[in-house]
Amino acid sequence: MSVIAKVTSSGPQAPLSQLLLAPLGLDIWEVKADHLVLQATEAQAERLEHMGYSIEQLHETESYLSAFATDDAVTGYHSAASLEADLRRLATDNPEIAELHEIGRSVENRPIWALRLGQRRGSTLKMAFLGCHHAREWISVEVPYLLAEYLVTHAATDPVQHWFQEGEIWVAPMVNPDGHEYTRTHNRLWRKNRRRNPDGSMGVDPNRNYGYMWGTLDVSTSSHVPRDDTYVGPRAFSEPEVQAVRNLVARELFAGVLTYHSYSQLILFPWGYTSKPIADPDHHEMQDLANDMQRIIRGVHGETYTVEQSSQLYPTAGDTTDWTYGEYGIPSFTIELRPQTQAEGGFILPSSQIQPTWEENRPAALRFISHIFDKPADA
Ligand SMILES: [Zn+2]
Repeated sequence: MSVIAKVTSSGPQAPLSQLLLAPLGLDIWEVKADHLVLQATEAQAERLEHMGYSIEQLHETESYLSAFATDDAVTGYHSAASLEADLRRLATDNPEIAELHEIGRSVENRPIWALRLGQRRGSTLKMAFLGCHHAREWISVEVPYLLAEYLVTHAATDPVQHWFQEGEIWVAPMVNPDGHEYTRTHNRLWRKNRRRNPDGSMGVDPNRNYGYMWGTLDVSTSSHVPRDDTYVGPRAFSEPEVQAVRNLVARELFAGVLTYHSYSQLILFPWGYTSKPIADPDHHEMQDLANDMQRIIRGVHGETYTVEQSSQLYPTAGDTTDWTYGEYGIPSFTIELRPQTQAEGGFILPSSQIQPTWEENRPAALRFISHIFDKPADA
């Protein structure tokens, strides 16, 4: 049996930062200044108490699921099949600007889809929006999907019309379809893909499997133990879902990438693998753009999305944006969507929250596109 627990430090001998740096195999959900929220087995929770941390059980996982994972909470979210149908419809109804691409296949042979938006092929100015590396983060499918739908329906008016003349926007809302399907049918809190590991456990964390500084950390949030939720995999790019994104990025050479996750309401930029900052002028550029997005998001419904370097949240090696920035030097962001806290549902965001989450993220996404597409041309 597992529990969802709030962990606080009981004194200087057990700082929270130390907990994040230990390879304890914990499923860490939330990192705040004075506490963590995590899912742990009872044995793990006992071990934390022995280490000197204070544990407050918030829910048994079962009771959390029965409170939040109701029939109502499924309505309004896509399945892999309904996403495919909707993407196909966007492409079929708008052949002059939209084209559906299968960019790869998952471990269980599900297609991974990306919608290419723009008037012509082979333009040089391109960017990408990704969703759902992590299976249980359902809202991270909906925001990029709604972005694609919005861009298609506004293709005849500026600024979208202008962007579609200038270049291409690629949207892949569900990088991990096997995991997502598994959260619909078996375990709502599944995170990884559905790889069978040699030790019999299941799943690699696709957002730890990218090939920049891959495997250089061994902590709870970037683990080398196959059964752990953040298992990095046997080698960089071992997973077909991650290969699909790698091949797309390598082929299209995007000028910017934004990948959606949930939850906690954060705007993150590299690095994740180290606390050292990226070099200027890139640091300035990404920090400024993140601050802009924060201000824009807050202006819609008053929600705060905290801006920070990814490693300030917790250390991760092999994530998407460390790779896109480290390998290609392009502005790369991770946005952790609603809600702010586990008490508001955590990974199980009520479907009534899809629309407002989209509404506040729409102008931030458009701001990022404008930053990439409307730059003054180099003299
Ligand atoms: Zn995630």
